[in-house]
Amino acid sequence: MYKITLSEKETPKKWYNIAADLPVELPPSTQTEEGHQIDNLPKLFSKYVLQQEMSTERWIDIPKEVRKVYKQIGRPSALFRATGLEKYLDTPAKIYYKREDQSPVGSHKLNTAIAQAYYAKKAGAERLTTETGAGQWGSALSLACSLLGLDCTVYMVNVSFKQKPYRKTVMHLYDGEVLPSPSNRTEFGRKILAEDPNHPGSLGIAISEAMEDAFNDDSAFYTLGSVLNHVLLHQTVIGLEAQKQFAKIDEKPDILVGCVGGGSNFGGAAFPFMKDKLSGDLDCQFLAAEPASCPTLTQGEYKYDYGDTAGLTPLMKMYTLGHEFVPPSVHAGGLRYHGMAPLVALLVNQGLVEGRTVNQTELFQAGKLFANTEGVIPAPETCHAIKVAIDEANKCKKTGEEKNIMITFSGHGLLDLQGYDDFIEGHLTQ
Ligand SMILES: *Cc1c(COP(=O)(O)O)cnc(C)c1O
Repeated sequence: MYKITLSEKETPKKWYNIAADLPVELPPSTQTEEGHQIDNLPKLFSKYVLQQEMSTERWIDIPKEVRKVYKQIGRPSALFRATGLEKYLDTPAKIYYKREDQSPVGSHKLNTAIAQAYYAKKAGAERLTTETGAGQWGSALSLACSLLGLDCTVYMVNVSFKQKPYRKTVMHLYDGEVLPSPSNRTEFGRKILAEDPNHPGSLGIAISEAMEDAFNDDSAFYTLGSVLNHVLLHQTVIGLEAQKQFAKIDEKPDILVGCVGGGSNFGGAAFPFMKDKLSGDLDCQFLAAEPASCPTLTQGEYKYDYGDTAGLTPLMKMYTLGHEFVPPSVHAGGLRYHGMAPLVALLVNQGLVEGRTVNQTELFQAGKLFANTEGVIPAPETCHAIKVAIDEANKCKKTGEEKNIMITFSGHGLLDLQGYDDFIEGHLTQ
């Protein structure tokens, strides 16, 4: 069997909220001394997603309208078996990959974009603001806004704005407005540009700008593409579908691997399986792959920090490299984030998820091998997960273990060809 599919009817009807089943309580987000941040949240987010952010209900209904759009954009996504890669590696392991790359925008981000746009509209918003790194989140939110009838303003990290011109085109096609960040549109952006007109930008800075913009406009809400509890909640459609798909072939994953930027594709895929692990029904290893240049889980500290650079967000307990950390301009723009979803961070801290680092040359090697053997060109972010999966499959070759390895295939790399080109031409140094 090469491809395990579900019918439209099998699209999940509820999201899974892991907050109901955590081994220890999630440390709450807190205010700082100034005390503004938590009070600000209702100006930034709809009451619906704020409720979800705090909820400890185990199952949360997916609104009918959201489920309809999920089906419209092609959910449930397929689970593929990477037989070509297995054969090349000569491994007894079976490698599966969950195809989030097949969404119209080419990544998993549409799963939460649709939900967030739906709830914002329901709460009366006319416009959404957001940040984007490599452009995947901006593309997803632009499309979701276009489908649900909202305007969209995207602050795009300056280096990516220059490196990924076609992402801009995608956002423009979906009627999103795109500004390079730091920008002149916000006070925070102007302050940074005054110090350094060629600032490369960072996700933290872009978040600050998008929040400031929404804060000053009563008809706008701010949205975040990762990190927050409600975002990971929406992404659990990935893992819930994958569970049904493994059940269809009477198998279970022994290793689940995903890449982590803010932790949403990994959390979304892992949490439903983690539920089974916590209840003793599944023996599975959870591996989170991150860039060596932005090693949040493996080198960061588990402590309270801001989600953005300006310190506009509440303090969240997470692994962090410090909110002023500006990661180097690597090609995997979607993983250039100083922090980590508090839910994923807690599971790492509890020893239930293990972080692994991958460097830039290794990841493109893995991506090229995947393209050669499976045909699909993975996003540089996704390549991190593939590299770790290959390492695990190679271990199985040594031990003879027939493990099932599941990769969360977060996105395709067809708009990341500059990175592949630099790799092929030998221009990558790290
Ligand atoms: C945004 C993105 C990521 C990283 O974000 P997470 O919230 O950690 O999932 C990974 N892969 C792709 C393809 C992305 O677009």
